[in-house]
Amino acid sequence: MAVDAPQHTGLGAPLDYRSERVLLPGTLVRVPLGRREVPGIVWDTGSGEPAPGELREVSLALDVLAPLGEPWRGLVDFTAAYYQRGTGEVALSVLPPELRKLDNAQLTSRIAKLRKALAKGDASMAMASPAPPPAPPALTAAQAGALAQIEALTATGRSATALLHGVTGSGKTEVYLGAAAQALAAGRQALVLVPEINLTPQLEARFRERFAGRHIVSMHSGLTPAQRLRSWLAAHLGLADLVLGTRLAVFASMPRLGLIVVDEEHDPSYKQQEGARYSARDLAVYRGKLEAITVVLGSATPSLESWQRCLEGRYVRLDLPARIGDGALPRVRLVDMTQQPKGRGANTALSAPLVVALRERIARGEQSLVFLNRRGYAPVLHCADCGWKSACPHCSAWRVFHKLDRTLRCHHCGFTERVPHACPECGNLDIAPLGRGTERLEEQLAEVLKDADGKPPRIARIDADSTRLKGALEARLGAMHAGDVDVLVGTQMVTKGHDFRRVTLVAAVNPDTSLFSSDFRAPERLFALLMQAGGRAGRDAAHAERSEMWVQTWHPRHALYAALRSHDFEAFAAAQLKEREMAGLPPYSHLAILRADARTPEAARAFLQAAAELAATLPGADAVMLYPPVPMGVARVADVERMQMLIESASRVALQRLLAQWLPALHTLRRAPTDGTPRILRWAVDVDPLSI
Ligand code: ADP
Ligand code: ZN
Ligand code: ZN
Repeated sequence: MAVDAPQHTGLGAPLDYRSERVLLPGTLVRVPLGRREVPGIVWDTGSGEPAPGELREVSLALDVLAPLGEPWRGLVDFTAAYYQRGTGEVALSVLPPELRKLDNAQLTSRIAKLRKALAKGDASMAMASPAPPPAPPALTAAQAGALAQIEALTATGRSATALLHGVTGSGKTEVYLGAAAQALAAGRQALVLVPEINLTPQLEARFRERFAGRHIVSMHSGLTPAQRLRSWLAAHLGLADLVLGTRLAVFASMPRLGLIVVDEEHDPSYKQQEGARYSARDLAVYRGKLEAITVVLGSATPSLESWQRCLEGRYVRLDLPARIGDGALPRVRLVDMTQQPKGRGANTALSAPLVVALRERIARGEQSLVFLNRRGYAPVLHCADCGWKSACPHCSAWRVFHKLDRTLRCHHCGFTERVPHACPECGNLDIAPLGRGTERLEEQLAEVLKDADGKPPRIARIDADSTRLKGALEARLGAMHAGDVDVLVGTQMVTKGHDFRRVTLVAAVNPDTSLFSSDFRAPERLFALLMQAGGRAGRDAAHAERSEMWVQTWHPRHALYAALRSHDFEAFAAAQLKEREMAGLPPYSHLAILRADARTPEAARAFLQAAAELAATLPGADAVMLYPPVPMGVARVADVERMQMLIESASRVALQRLLAQWLPALHTLRRAPTDGTPRILRWAVDVDPLSI
């Protein structure tokens, strides 16, 4: 029985219970645990031998629901083992929470309601419109070739992973639609994963239009608990043909699963950042193995892990080499900021040539998109007299100046105060913002882009601040689509997925910071971001010819920008892989990170050191390298000191073997520090961490 017990209780492995009736594996149950009753899932049926000691009885079996299938349990088993969590913990955390509350009678009525709604084509149940579907476009040769290969892979009846590589606008989505059509025609279900909940409605609309008459459900964190249960039930009962969702949907129970698509497979949001820190992309590939089906990963800038597997021949590479209609990719223009005259105020952020280019767009009635990866007005407030800066008292970070509501806000712990009217240290009245965020950029754009009458252009801003209110994001995107916006400014939120037809200029104001980051994946992320941002320009073939991507940089000769200029992912990937290979970094090695949080850095460090000493005594330790503990990038957040230790091995198996022996012992270590240092608050392990 896999029960819902947190990892640290040491009850991670399935437990034994007794039942009068024979319960099939995968059946949902309630069982007593200590003095509580907890949800569980029958994991395997015992040997029939009487177990030692008294076994407690299953309190309730939810047997009106078909048991969860074997591949699903296999996926949960793998996730728990690989990411070092409890089986029941993982299993229950990926099921809809509503399932915990219902008994057999309630569940029966929910299922009956669902069936009725589906039969009626209830719009809220996301039944596609009954109008005859518009004919799909005639595929290009490249699309047809890719689809034929996917069909051939599926026909083998074995598992396979294909990597669909093509720039934005090259017709990848059309290939997903075609592959899903193949699966549906064969009587199977299809699962389509997207990175962001914001992107589900657009993709959903396209799938609905194409598969009118089929049942499509979505699964993401924006659903109410009741909606989530309905989507889950529809998938589990085989009533939904298509499931569209974010990373959690990789665990959707689908008895007839025939295809998995992972769109934008490189996107960091596929990695869960708490609990079982799984990669939904990696789990999708594993699930494909368990189910013996084809998995299609798609991207314009594949992750180097996936790319490397193509090079090794483990994934099948499918290329869409050109934009549909042979639309040109935007011309990349680098502005060498070292050559720009040192201006004052707004001019320091926006170079003169970029301002001219933006003005031209406005004059022609075209749209521009300007992004900067920092929200707020300015990252720091500063007193030139005494050197005071707006540090957060609870974190090792600056508090960001938000001009609109005149606050200093910490983006790490949320600590917020009104802006002081004078320097808190010396009383100087002249405290000034340093650097810039999207709020200030918006203000500066309005200033430098005024027309002859002093009227600013229509500017909209999209970032976490401007879209906090429900509907705010939709309203801004709507205005952009309707052509009521000349310049859209924002964080990388503006670069993802949106199909703006009138954008002919995309500008990255200050992307350099990622070039020299201590995180080895920073260049990969920057390249993907800039390629994706560039993909927002010239989507309308009529404008493609004069669309441009502007990059302001102090390092115009950097190899990353050279590859960007020629839209050459292969060259970029080859260079990066070479560097990674020389440095022994993924995908040429395998990493895990052990993190510890404590009230003092000493306590966190002592715990990690004790853990390292323990690891050294375990069999197989020599195949794994442990680095000394270091503070995290932002070492202190909300008065908690955070340290981490990198664990590396050339062999995934060796790393896994060590973690499996080591981590259970850390629960004990945490409870009883050996040398009198104060206890830590918590620890966690991140297998295949994305950022370090
Ligand atoms: P991607 O997913 O790679 O960004 P899409 O599949 O969204 O590309 O295709 C980009 C645009 O081209 C969409 O508007 C789509 O409807 C259109 N399109 C895709 N394939 C074809 C085709 N074979 N013929 C005509 N238009 C197509
Ligand atoms: Zn001062
Ligand atoms: Zn803080």
